[in-house]
Amino acid sequence: MRYAILGDIHSNLAAFEAVLEDIERKGKADELWCLGDIVGYGPDPHQCIELLRQHNHLCVAGNHDWAAIGKADISLFNPVAAMACRWTAKQLNPEEVHYLENLPLVLQRDDFTLVHGSPRDPIWEYLLSSNTARDNFNYFQSQFCLVGHSHIPLVFEYLSESDACLFEELPPEVSLVVGRSRLIINPGGVGQPRDDDPRASYVIYDSEAQAIYHYRVPYDIAATQEKMVKCGLPSPLVVRLSYGR
Ligand code: ZN
Repeated sequence: MRYAILGDIHSNLAAFEAVLEDIERKGKADELWCLGDIVGYGPDPHQCIELLRQHNHLCVAGNHDWAAIGKADISLFNPVAAMACRWTAKQLNPEEVHYLENLPLVLQRDDFTLVHGSPRDPIWEYLLSSNTARDNFNYFQSQFCLVGHSHIPLVFEYLSESDACLFEELPPEVSLVVGRSRLIINPGGVGQPRDDDPRASYVIYDSEAQAIYHYRVPYDIAATQEKMVKCGLPSPLVVRLSYGR
């Protein structure tokens, strides 16, 4: 089986479509595993939810999904994120609200646990250091955990002998053969990458090859930015897409 693992679409339809086309080109996927934050920041919340739902998929809730429907505290957002969130809330129809409301915080599939932030705090915690990641290995049972939220493609490996944790960026176009180690993997962000590479980021897991492939996909950034300007979304959010940060 082949699973496409992606997250942080953030209402960026052009980026999401480019990733879906790339998945087809790379040999299709049996299932999409989405790590939350379908909405927030970008101009196409409705279309992104609809497109995801047209696919055979699993999805967990992200902080932006919850904030857009009033389930998470918007005061924890910075001012531009909060503005985009209020705009997003106004776009959603009752059926979309219902879909977002019912997204689980944690999902289990085969050897994987799926969460948005971290297994310890699925909505808010960022996994960006080896110490934080090491503590989080105690909060899930499966061999692998998939996270989003930071929009940075990373892999953390737990070293049981020393109770330590290694981490490195996931380089693009490189396959990672998974062995016996426990790993936490972040596929990077589709709709708002933050690792100084503006291309959309996602991962394919091939269960037969036991390998993870990380891909970067160029998309029409200007098209998304133009829509954001028309919608009146905050300009720092428009500009950052050009730089991937
Ligand atoms: Zn996000």
